[in-house]
Amino acid sequence: MKGSKDFSEIKEAIRRIALDNAIKHKGKAQVKPVLGKLLGENPDLRGKIKELTSLIDKIVKEINSLTLKQQIETARRLWPELLKKEKERIEEENRLPPLPNVEKYEQIVTRFAPNPDCVLHIGSARAVILSHEYARMYDGRFILRFEDTDPRLKKTALEFYDLIREDLKWLGCAWDAEYIQSDRMEIYYEYAEKLLKNGYAYVCTCQREDFREKIHQKMPCPCRKMPPEENLSRWEAMLSGEYGEGEAVVRIKTDLDHPNPAIRDWPAFRIIDTKKHPHPRTGSRYRVWPLFAFANGIDDHLNGVTHVIRGKEHLTNQRRQEYLYRYLGWEYPEAIHYGRLKITGVTLSKSKIIRAVEEGVYSGWDDPRLATFQALRRRGIRPEALRQLMIDIGPRPVDITLSWKNLYAYNRKIIDPIANRYFFLDEPKMMIVRGVKKDYVASIPLHPNDPKRGKRIFTVKNRSCQAHLLISSRDFSRLKIGSLVRLMELFNVKVISKKKEQIFADFHSEDYKKAKQLGLVLIHWLPEGEGIPCEAIMPDGSIVRGLAEEGLCQASIDQIVQFERFGFVRIDWMDEGIKVFFAHE
Ligand SMILES: [Zn+2]
Repeated sequence: MKGSKDFSEIKEAIRRIALDNAIKHKGKAQVKPVLGKLLGENPDLRGKIKELTSLIDKIVKEINSLTLKQQIETARRLWPELLKKEKERIEEENRLPPLPNVEKYEQIVTRFAPNPDCVLHIGSARAVILSHEYARMYDGRFILRFEDTDPRLKKTALEFYDLIREDLKWLGCAWDAEYIQSDRMEIYYEYAEKLLKNGYAYVCTCQREDFREKIHQKMPCPCRKMPPEENLSRWEAMLSGEYGEGEAVVRIKTDLDHPNPAIRDWPAFRIIDTKKHPHPRTGSRYRVWPLFAFANGIDDHLNGVTHVIRGKEHLTNQRRQEYLYRYLGWEYPEAIHYGRLKITGVTLSKSKIIRAVEEGVYSGWDDPRLATFQALRRRGIRPEALRQLMIDIGPRPVDITLSWKNLYAYNRKIIDPIANRYFFLDEPKMMIVRGVKKDYVASIPLHPNDPKRGKRIFTVKNRSCQAHLLISSRDFSRLKIGSLVRLMELFNVKVISKKKEQIFADFHSEDYKKAKQLGLVLIHWLPEGEGIPCEAIMPDGSIVRGLAEEGLCQASIDQIVQFERFGFVRIDWMDEGIKVFFAHE
């Protein structure tokens, strides 16, 4: 080592780095990364690795002999900045894991590529949110690409382009560029010709069954050995309409003995009779349409996508597309395949959703029984909740099952602090309390944790020693004769008798402490004659009718509030009455 002063400085640096390394790894530092970091900070020490290693070894042993708690205390005393970094690291851990090979690319580009054949539902949340979040994380670009090249089976409809754009806006996933595949047909044709010309693809006119039989035996069909000239003239014939539907497809040559028969000489283009099945944007202008793997693969490259984040069901497509990329001399983007996300109690089949909406089984795309983003939005599920849930699930390859409860837990965290509290009585019934000695004024905060928001004031008049109140029918049917109960922020009563629509009680005591002491149930109420008609649309489509307190009129459409002892709701409509959608408890 150089001078003694330098030597002590180096020792200090090693101690600091080792301590940092230990804290990051549950109290156990390792020699190699410490050496690496030291050399990174002091490149002039590179000639002294041998001496340094034994010194680091000694210091690492010293540090590792301390408990993690002692290490953190030492760091706090000597290098508090290490702990600040630790805090940042924990925050980072709550975000997405890093993408692979980021350093290879000047800018990270991700994409979301929906087929505009339906509105988006929760099954798309992971693809769109992760792709958008990763682009944001790396200061990159996020692309929206409509993959609308199937006018027949996955039938595109014009309304869905805009509805999907609205869904993305609601999710907070703004996009930097947009492409529509039906605008790009000439591009796909150009690449088809290139591949046919170079012998990487051929036009197959076999019967589908004949081809399938051959390919299962790893045998070529007769079209495969046709020269490029023949293929190009067949291609021209496809474009000019000489072949009908199903009479010719363009196939990409692959290894015939590929273990997966679905990959062997996969189809890239087929004919769709657009006179019968017009495309909503291009009508019958095109009759030769690229299949998913082709158009999607070409565009990922041409759009400059660096990282594709999608479900593992797309692995087969990647294997297909890799042939395409090899033939075109392109490098395949980084592909991240996450596991299946199953959501219990949700219909995610687009065709089922479309059929049911068309048949009027559901009231529309935002019917509360659906898991579309429109329905979630209407019910008061916040996009931030979906985003955080998807980030926490991340792009892990394991399969995951989610329930509504998981999503509700995330949503509750977001809306509980903002939702003002109100009383709502489902099918209210009368409660007559006898033995009341005075008028009562109850004042209840709009939010229990935020007194600044103000209070709701209710006045209960004493009418010849009686108070007339309304309670919910749920409470009405639960209350038993002889039972004690506290009316929230009012007083405690004892149930004396019950009729069909009325319940009679005696005033018991005023003090809340008494209610607490006796372990009384707290129920909500309204003074008789107050309240505004309110309908709550439940997640199963049923309607709960009742009265909400009049103060709710001060709230606004779209606001999320909590009906106490009922649940969180989003105000959907307000006129002479109020309509709300139920979110969750
Ligand atoms: Zn053939």
